[in-house]
Amino acid sequence: MKCRQCQKSAVIKMERHNTSLCGGCFNLYVHDQVDRAITENKMFDHGEQILVAISGGKDSLALWDVLIKLNYRTVGLHLNLGIGDYSERSQKKVEAFAASRGVELIVHAYQEAYGLGVIEIAEETARPACSACGTMKRYHFNRIAMERGFPVVATGHNLDDEASRLLGNVLQWQEEYLEKQSPVLSDEGGTWARKVKPLFRLAEREIAAYSILNRIDYIVDECPMSKGAKMLLYKDVLNRLEEASPGTKHKFYLGFLKRQRSMPTAPTVSKPADLHPCPSCGQPTQGAVCSFCRLMQRVAP
Ligand code: AMP
Ligand code: ZN
Repeated sequence: MKCRQCQKSAVIKMERHNTSLCGGCFNLYVHDQVDRAITENKMFDHGEQILVAISGGKDSLALWDVLIKLNYRTVGLHLNLGIGDYSERSQKKVEAFAASRGVELIVHAYQEAYGLGVIEIAEETARPACSACGTMKRYHFNRIAMERGFPVVATGHNLDDEASRLLGNVLQWQEEYLEKQSPVLSDEGGTWARKVKPLFRLAEREIAAYSILNRIDYIVDECPMSKGAKMLLYKDVLNRLEEASPGTKHKFYLGFLKRQRSMPTAPTVSKPADLHPCPSCGQPTQGAVCSFCRLMQRVAP
């Protein structure tokens, strides 16, 4: 198998592009896809400092690696969720990566901050673990970015994540979520930090190949609490469609983004005008207190 670009021996076959590439050309392809995602969607520029949310998994570490190579100014943020050995090993991977690249890393540990890990917090508040974890992650990404003056937070969500989420939102006609599902969420005039997903054009297997090729040492285990069974089912269905018809995920998600621009604004979506500072923590919210403080109020003192 030869590289379609330069005739060297290929390391990856990409059915969806009907091509095979060698290591060097594949790296250029990945960098180009991330660069396109950033510039076409005005995610950020070289003058801004970007807070990159790093779990220790392949996606976020590959994202950080590409952003460093594209000469963006980045600082990593790792949340230690306090899930025993899994969280300790994740943090070590992130620290080793930051040290090897000489880049700054912020670590925030729930156990130190709240005396509890995310599983105990979910148990005490009778919330499903992934839902409590999602609330806490979104809150900390935003609060730490705003407190430290980062205009933008980047996460490692890839094409498979976004296409499966879209499938779920369509199957359940979650119109409010459909309107908000985007690789860039605005800062609403400085109310929030901007949220961006620069890997949305890249498939999970391409990111796995990039990580191996570039010797990125990531945590292979999935979170022991694991994703909701439905999301895994949607990913599996999309993988089967992709195998039968390469390019399905790309057409589905990027086709949606194209059409989304001409969709009328759903009247159910609240506008930022409804926002006020949470009386407990100061972060913007539409409720009496923000969803994070509501969660933490239910944790027994
Ligand atoms: P997940 O929700 O686990 O699929 O993760 C999606 C993205 O959220 C990852 O690619 C990271 O950018 C970010 N993320 C997940 N877990 C953490 C964590 N513990 N610390 C920092 N960022 C995280
Ligand atoms: Zn609050």
